[in-house]
Amino acid sequence: MARYTGPVCKLCRRERTKLFLKGARCESSKCAIETRPYPPGEHGRGRIKETQYLIQLREKQKARRIYGVLEKQFRNYYKEAARRSGITGENLLRILESRLDNVVYRANFATSRAQARQLVSHGHVLVDGRRVDKPSIRVKPGTVLELRERSKNLVAVQHAIDTLGDRGVPEWLQVDTDDKKITVQDLPTRTQVDTQIQEQLIVELYSK
Ligand code: SF4
Repeated sequence: MARYTGPVCKLCRRERTKLFLKGARCESSKCAIETRPYPPGEHGRGRIKETQYLIQLREKQKARRIYGVLEKQFRNYYKEAARRSGITGENLLRILESRLDNVVYRANFATSRAQARQLVSHGHVLVDGRRVDKPSIRVKPGTVLELRERSKNLVAVQHAIDTLGDRGVPEWLQVDTDDKKITVQDLPTRTQVDTQIQEQLIVELYSK
């Protein structure tokens, strides 16, 4: 379960956009994109030639960083998406959205995907009644997730529900915030995925 452990605000600055990796801080004036809106490093403010390859590469890196997936796993997701019938880019987004950590985040039980990942890896989440600890597990239509009985009163979860409640939950999830239960109704269609990612650019990059 390898994951990126370096400074995350640098990732947003590299992509020149907010990736919302730090929960509440991302909405505050302390966000590094507000204070230092240029790429990190000595040459961050230098001029960069925007080639088509660079645009595609940055889009892929952005997607990886938003969902917290390392390169090898992301490429495997792409291969799986390309094997499936339908539009590869949409398949890729559907795979990423169906990750357990993403579902917990989308249901507003965590303020960031990193926090959701920690909830899962610390064993707070039950999938169809079974305790799991792998954030990359994928859900299917009909999967029921719930917090363990003794995890239902976690302050972090209640705080996330209280602060993110206004954001709403996607139509493909049914969330019971009192019982801390999520039912996956279906996997999302492209229009149901709220993301800034242009998946077509990723497909173009990998199909070279
Ligand atoms: Fe990105 Fe959030 Fe850091 Fe802002 S505070 S740079 S959105 S991780």
